[in-house]
Amino acid sequence: MSTDFEFAVVGGGGMGSAAAYYLAREGKSVLVLEQFEIGHNRGASHGENRIIRYSYEWTDYVKLAKETFKLWKEVETEFGSKLLTRTGGLDIGYPGNRDFELCIDSLRKEAIDFQLMNQEEAATRFPQFNFETGTRALFQKDAGYLEPDICIPAFISLSKKCGAIVHDNTTLDGINISDSHVELTSNGKRWRAKNLILTPGPWAAPLLKKLTGIEIPIVVSLEQYAFFKPRHREWFEESKSPVFIVYPTPGELDILYGFPQFKDLGVKVAEHHAGSVTEAATRSFEPDPEKLKRAFARAQKLIPDLTEEVTKAATCLYSNTPDKHFIVDKLPGHKNVVIGCGFSGHGFKFIPIIGNILKDLALHGQTKHQIRMFKLQRFAATHTKR
Ligand SMILES: Cc1cc2nc3c(=O)[nH]c(=O)nc-3n(C[C@H](O)[C@H](O)[C@H](O)COP(=O)(O)OP(=O)(O)OC[C@H]3O[C@@H](n4cnc5c(N)ncnc54)[C@H](O)[C@@H]3O)c2cc1C
Repeated sequence: MSTDFEFAVVGGGGMGSAAAYYLAREGKSVLVLEQFEIGHNRGASHGENRIIRYSYEWTDYVKLAKETFKLWKEVETEFGSKLLTRTGGLDIGYPGNRDFELCIDSLRKEAIDFQLMNQEEAATRFPQFNFETGTRALFQKDAGYLEPDICIPAFISLSKKCGAIVHDNTTLDGINISDSHVELTSNGKRWRAKNLILTPGPWAAPLLKKLTGIEIPIVVSLEQYAFFKPRHREWFEESKSPVFIVYPTPGELDILYGFPQFKDLGVKVAEHHAGSVTEAATRSFEPDPEKLKRAFARAQKLIPDLTEEVTKAATCLYSNTPDKHFIVDKLPGHKNVVIGCGFSGHGFKFIPIIGNILKDLALHGQTKHQIRMFKLQRFAATHTKR
């Protein structure tokens, strides 16, 4: 088997599997190194469901969402099975919540169709939810969820079908970067590639520091989610109940988000950015019972029909940049190395478009897509070579 490739991708999670697919689909020779088994639950891209939506505070994300919805459709066709379930999406905002207002503005600017409802209208349309006085609800019909446990294996199988060589349970432990190529090692094995794409997720900062001396400002947090059983399951069926995002009231940490009834598991809810700081190599897998109680209390305010019965609770890792925007860029000082990390708890929906952008940057050194918010340079003061 050849050890020489045009492109090597390190990290076969969400972003890496998509980048590998789009490069292999262009007939490029691609190597993927993944330290665990494909579809593992130790990083950021596992579990039952992830929200996909257009509603963002920034129009750059709405533009990317337009691309990503199209691309998921394409991947579904090529993979031959459904990955995205449309349920509609409900954003619930309290008076004066700036982010909620910015979402409305961005959707208007990008001409995305949506409905804005006051409390009474929302309560009539969605009686299973309790809308508090003064709240408004934004309903966007195209939103829904993706299934990570199907999506990642789908991208890996499509990339293999296009000729990519995927080594799972293979940890990159050394690289030697020159202008003409990159040498990669894992446990004594060696490969060469002309170009390297680094998508190591929550391992990005320590890996980059160890292998290149470059420090990037990513803080990993241990996030959790839980499925609670409703008394009336039929009220939360996908045909009747949308994915939802509740913007925080003053004093509340961050967004509460959730999904309709998922198979026999119940209604999943979670708090965004509520996790404690951790490291990917040493993190716990145990959900915090106090945080579970707090999430339930917030969820039950919105969904009185929910019971405290937890059918499943699990943890997962966010890779947070200081401004919660992604890092998608060429690695400073290395024109043949591209990096995609720091997706700060909201990257899953964008996997196909980020995969395409990483492909563009690796192939052409530039992309037609707007990535000005994702430049590493914005942290110039904090990312330096040691
Ligand atoms: C609880 C939770 C809920 C979320 N909800 C949403 C949502 O509703 N909507 C949304 O859009 N996003 C959501 N996200 C965010 C989204 O899941 C992530 O942004 C996305 O999955 C990040 O993908 P990634 O490829 O960067 O990371 P990962 O999928 O973790 O991939 C990185 C891969 O690199 C591998 N790796 C690391 N180091 C090495 C090495 N040295 N050698 C070989 N392989 C290596 C790892 O094993 C891993 O497989 C959520 C995340 C969490 C945790």
